[in-house]
Amino acid sequence: MNSPRFTYRCSLCQRASEAAELTYTCPADGGNLDVLLDYEGLRRQNQALILPEERGLWRYLPLLPVADPGGHETPFREAGGTPVYQLHALAAGLGLRALWLKDESRNPSASFKDRASAVVMARAAEIGAEVVVTASTGNAGAALAGMAAALGRKAVIFAPRAAPPAKIAQLLIFGAQVILVEGSYDDAFDLTIQAAHEFGWYCRNTGYNPFTAEGKKTAAFEIWEWQSRQPPRSPASLQAGAPLSIFIPVGDGNIIAGIHKGFKDLLAVGVIERLPRLFGVQAEGSAAVANAFFSQADRIQPVTAHTIADSISVDLPRDGVRALRAVRETGGCCLTVSDAEILRAIASLGRVGVLAEPAGAAACAGLVKAVEQGLITPEEPVLLLNTGSGLKDVRAVLQAAPEAPVIEPTLEEVQRLLRQ
Ligand SMILES: *Cc1c(COP(=O)(O)O)cnc(C)c1O
Ligand SMILES: [Zn+2]
Repeated sequence: MNSPRFTYRCSLCQRASEAAELTYTCPADGGNLDVLLDYEGLRRQNQALILPEERGLWRYLPLLPVADPGGHETPFREAGGTPVYQLHALAAGLGLRALWLKDESRNPSASFKDRASAVVMARAAEIGAEVVVTASTGNAGAALAGMAAALGRKAVIFAPRAAPPAKIAQLLIFGAQVILVEGSYDDAFDLTIQAAHEFGWYCRNTGYNPFTAEGKKTAAFEIWEWQSRQPPRSPASLQAGAPLSIFIPVGDGNIIAGIHKGFKDLLAVGVIERLPRLFGVQAEGSAAVANAFFSQADRIQPVTAHTIADSISVDLPRDGVRALRAVRETGGCCLTVSDAEILRAIASLGRVGVLAEPAGAAACAGLVKAVEQGLITPEEPVLLLNTGSGLKDVRAVLQAAPEAPVIEPTLEEVQRLLRQ
C-alpha cells in the first residue's frame, strides 16, 4: 500500500506535526488535529480528484489521507454514496421553495457513522493495528463493528448500558467484543482511551481520532457533486444565487466539523468558491455547543445531558471547538430543539417517506425553528442531514406515531371502525 502524504495541525495552537503512526490529539493542549493534505499537488492534478468507477466514499480516495485498503464487494465498500431526496410536501408546509434531505440511514449499518468507521479501519489496516476500539452511544460502535466484520478484523466497543436495544443488537451480531458500561457515553469515552492505552488497541473515539472527521468529510464531497449535477436553474445548483444551508445534528460536533473540513478541502483544491452555511442542531438537554455559540464563548462548558436523541446526548462535546467554528465561519447558526419538537419531526419526516431516529430528525426540527425565527428565507435552498434510521430506536419512533386500533377479524368490525 502506498500511503498518501499528509500532516497534522492542531486546531487550538495551530502547531504543525508530521503524521506519526499513533497520534490522536495535540500533545501540548489536547486540541483536535486537522489533517492537512498536499493541496498544491491536488490542485495541479485536479481532474483526478474523483474515482468515477467507485460508488461510495471511496470515490474520493485521492482526497483522503489513507491508502485503498481493498475490501471489495463487502459492506465496507458501500459506506457513503447516500441518496438525496426532494421533500416537496415538507417544503410547501414550511413555505420554502425547495428542500432536500440526504439520507444517511442508507449506509450499511444505517447511520452516518459508517463513513468515519470505514476510513478509520483503512487507517488501522495501514498501521497494522490488530484491534480497534471505540466508545459509542451505539451508532459509531455498530459502524465500527460492521466494518471490522466485513474486513475480518477485531473490534471492541464500549457503550452505555442504556443504549437502544437495536444498536446493541447490531454490535453483538457483528461479532464485536461488546462491553456495556454502567454510566454515560462520556464515562465510556474516557474508559476507552484508558483501555486503548493499556492494551495497545487503536482507538477510534469520535473527536479524538483525527481520521473520523476525514471519513465524515466525504458527505461534503457528495453534496458538492450532487450540487454540480443539479440543473442550472435549480436553487441548489452551484451557480444559484443563495448558498445552500445544511442542517446537521450535533452531539460531539464531529459530523459538522468533518463536513466543514470537506468543504474547506474543496476550497483549497480550487473546485468551489464559497462554503455552504452550516446549521448545528442540538437537543435542548444536550446543548453545550449551542450554549457556547450563544454566549460567544470559544471554549465549551460541559452539561449533564438528557434527551431522547441518544446519538446526540453528550455532556462534553469532544469536537466542540471545531463545531463552533463550522457554524461561525460559514455564516450558519446553532439551534436547540426540545424532545417534543424532535418527536414531531420524526412524524413529519415519516409522512414524506423518511424514517429517522431522534438525532436525525433533530435536523428537521431545527429547520422548523430556523424558519420560524426568520433565519431561513423562502428562496434559500436547504438540505437536511438525516444521520440515522428510525429502526435504530423503535421505542422513540413509536412515541411519535399514532396508535393503531385493534379489532376482531370481521368485516363488520372494519365497517364500524371506518364509520367512526
Ligand atoms: C453520532 C451521531 C450524531 C452526532 O454526530 P457528532 O459527530 O457526535 O456531532 C447525529 N446523529 C446520529 C444518528 C449519530 O449517530
Ligand atoms: Zn495544540
